[in-house]
Amino acid sequence: MLVVMQEGATELQIQAVIDRLIEMGFDVHRSTGVIHTVLGGVGGKDDFDVGILEVMEGVKEAHRIISPYKLASRVFRPGGTLVKIGDVEIGGPRVVVMAGPCSVESREQIERSAEIAAQGGAQILRGGAFKPRSSPYSFQGLGEEGLKLLHEAARRRGLLVVSEVMESAQIPLLAQYADILQVGARNMQNFNLLRDLGRQRAPVLLKRGISATIEELLLSAEYILAGGNYDVILCERGIRTFETYTRNTMDISAIPIVKKLSHLPMVADPSHGTGRRDKVVPMARAAVAAGADGLLVEVHPDPDHALSDGAQSLLPEQFDDMMRQLRMIAPAVGRTV
Ligand code: PEP
Ligand code: MN
Repeated sequence: MLVVMQEGATELQIQAVIDRLIEMGFDVHRSTGVIHTVLGGVGGKDDFDVGILEVMEGVKEAHRIISPYKLASRVFRPGGTLVKIGDVEIGGPRVVVMAGPCSVESREQIERSAEIAAQGGAQILRGGAFKPRSSPYSFQGLGEEGLKLLHEAARRRGLLVVSEVMESAQIPLLAQYADILQVGARNMQNFNLLRDLGRQRAPVLLKRGISATIEELLLSAEYILAGGNYDVILCERGIRTFETYTRNTMDISAIPIVKKLSHLPMVADPSHGTGRRDKVVPMARAAVAAGADGLLVEVHPDPDHALSDGAQSLLPEQFDDMMRQLRMIAPAVGRTV
């Protein structure tokens, strides 16, 4: 259920609608926009006369929402969500670049990566300290030590940090060192983790599952939003199809689709999306042209010797070249980089 209040609706009128929704069994989420306050009702029964709400004082319109996700729906916040972290805004006119290695491997490696990211114009340093590897024998990450190194390298250069959280017990530790907590593709439907991320306030980067539909991605976001954490950033990172040439099939169309269905910022990860270094830059260009709010890109000072995802990690000069190209493409679609 969504109730859009009139411009200038009084606090008393808004409260009366909230009380009514609660009486009807809804959990009420309030979104205060510049002009309109929107009230989202979740959980109540949808089989009642919407007119009851429409005739209340101060109500502009009331809608029964049939999509299974409500808080993640564009209707809830027609103007879009801006995730603000310090002076970085995700979902605004600037395309935000998050760059760095797949995994934090050593102090030297992450310091050098941070330098490459910052010099190229990225605003956020990525790097996994807890790695979800397909094989239990592959490098699993440096854990807390890795997070410390990542945080230090980023702060030295004025960058924010994004890093993956694999389970609920890691949330406090991640929140200590990272500005954005990443939920990996393999955990997109770890509903307990999503619920716990909804109960805390650090922004969450939610990656699309390997074989998840767009609706499933938005329903997973809904778990986090329902807990009261509205700082959710979605990420297209390629899906599994019958094509074997690339590691995954980068679903560029998911970008404009999600932007239409949801108010949440949508970023793209062309590194996991293709699995091949030579295909990352073209897909990054395509993602920005398609309206992505940001990019998550793997770059490594020596990718051929990386402990994970070396084949898809850009060489430093390729990263610089990508940034240079994006600075030309972004203005063509009304954005900056
Ligand atoms: C990563 O970002 O390094 C990662 C493991 O991504 P994904 O969850 O998309 O595979
Ligand atoms: Mn990776």
